[in-house]
Amino acid sequence: MTNTPADTIINVLDQVIQSADKPAHLHEPRFNGNEWQYVKECLDTGWVSSVGSYVNLFEEKLAEKCGVSHAILTVNGTAALHTALILMGVKSGDEVIIPTLTFIATANAVTYCGATPHFVDSDAHTLGIDAVKLDNYLAQNAIHSNGNLINKNTGKRIAAIVPVHIFGHACNMVALSTVANKYNLPIISDAAEALGSFYHNKPLASYGDISAVSFNGNKVITTGGGGAILTNDDKIAAHAKHITTTAKVPHKWDFVHDEIGYNYRMPNLNAALGCAQLEQLDTFVESKRRLAERYIDKFSENDAVRFIQEPEGCRSNYWLCAIQIHDAHKRNETLQSLHDNGYICRPIWKLMHTLPMFQNCPRMDLAIAGQLEQTIINLPSSVKLGLTR
Ligand SMILES: *Cc1c(COP(=O)(O)O)cnc(C)c1O
Repeated sequence: MTNTPADTIINVLDQVIQSADKPAHLHEPRFNGNEWQYVKECLDTGWVSSVGSYVNLFEEKLAEKCGVSHAILTVNGTAALHTALILMGVKSGDEVIIPTLTFIATANAVTYCGATPHFVDSDAHTLGIDAVKLDNYLAQNAIHSNGNLINKNTGKRIAAIVPVHIFGHACNMVALSTVANKYNLPIISDAAEALGSFYHNKPLASYGDISAVSFNGNKVITTGGGGAILTNDDKIAAHAKHITTTAKVPHKWDFVHDEIGYNYRMPNLNAALGCAQLEQLDTFVESKRRLAERYIDKFSENDAVRFIQEPEGCRSNYWLCAIQIHDAHKRNETLQSLHDNGYICRPIWKLMHTLPMFQNCPRMDLAIAGQLEQTIINLPSSVKLGLTR
C-alpha cells in the first residue's frame, strides 16, 4: 500500500510535535517576559491611550532592531500599509503592483487609496514577486510618459510596487530593486510577516523605500493588534506621524488639522505589550528556526513533500512553516486528515484576483501563483514547538 501525503505529513508531525502540544495551532502568541509588568504600569499610571512613554520607547527600540532611522506605530499592519502607500504618492486612479498570492490586507490597503491592485505572478522558490517576469511584462505593457509609467492597456498610472515577504522568506530584493529603478517606481515593502528575518545580513524589514510590519495576534510578536511604518527619511517619518494622528497641528489648546488625517496611532497599552514582546524577538526566532530545522530534517527523508526553505541570501524568521504537496487534488483531504489528527493546518490564501471585488483588476499570467495556491499547506509553527527539550 502506498502512503498518502497525509500519512507522510502526520508521521513527521508526530515525531516533531509532542502530543501534549495538541491540538497544535498554526501560531500561538507567547507571553513569558515583561508583558504583565509593562501593561500593569500603563493601568497604574493611567497612560493607556495614544500618548505615553511606551509608544515612544517601542518606536525607538523597533527602529533600532530593524536597522532604520524611524518607526511609526499604527493600530494594525493594514493601517501601516495604507499610510505607507499615501506617503509614497499613491493616488486615486493609480494602479499598484502587488502579488496575487498575498494576504487580503495588501490588496485592501491599495483600494483604500482609491487605487487598483495590478496583480503579478510569484516565484516558486521565494514565493514572492517574480522580478524577471515582472520586468518582461512591464517592458511590453507599460510606457513612460511625462515622468510617469502608464499601463498601455488601461491608460492608468502605475504608481508603485509592493513586494510581500511571504512567511518571512525574502523576495529577491536585488532583482526587484533593479526593476523598480528601471521603471522609476517606489518599493513599498509589505514586511508584515518578516520581522526578525534578515536579507544579506540586514533586517529584511529595512528594505524598500518604506515598509510596513504587523503585530497582529498571529504574527512573530504581537501587541494584540498593531503595526508600524519603517523609513530612513526624516520628512516622511514626520509626515507619517502627522497623518496617523489626525493631522493635528501641535497647539496648546486649539484644534487645527491641516490635511485629511487618520486615527491610526497605536495606544500605549498595546505599545507596552510590544516593548515586552520585542525583548523576546531574537529568542522567538531562534525557536522557530529550530522547529523549521526539525521539520526539514524529517521531511528530507521522503520526496513526496517539499518543505519550503529560506531562499538564498535570506535568514528567515520562519513565521509560518509550509510544505508543498505534489498532487493538488489531495490537498483538501490532506488538510482534513491533519485536522482529524490534532494538527490545525491551513492552506495558503486564495489568490486575490479570484475574489469577487478584485476579479476585474488588471493582471499578468498568474500560473505559478496558481500552482502554489493549490499545493501549499502551513504547518504548526508556534514558538513553543521549537523550544529546546
Ligand atoms: C498580517 C498581514 C498584514 C496586515 O496586518 P494586520 O495587522 O492584520 O492589519 C498585511 N500583509 C500581510 C502579508 C500580512 O500577513
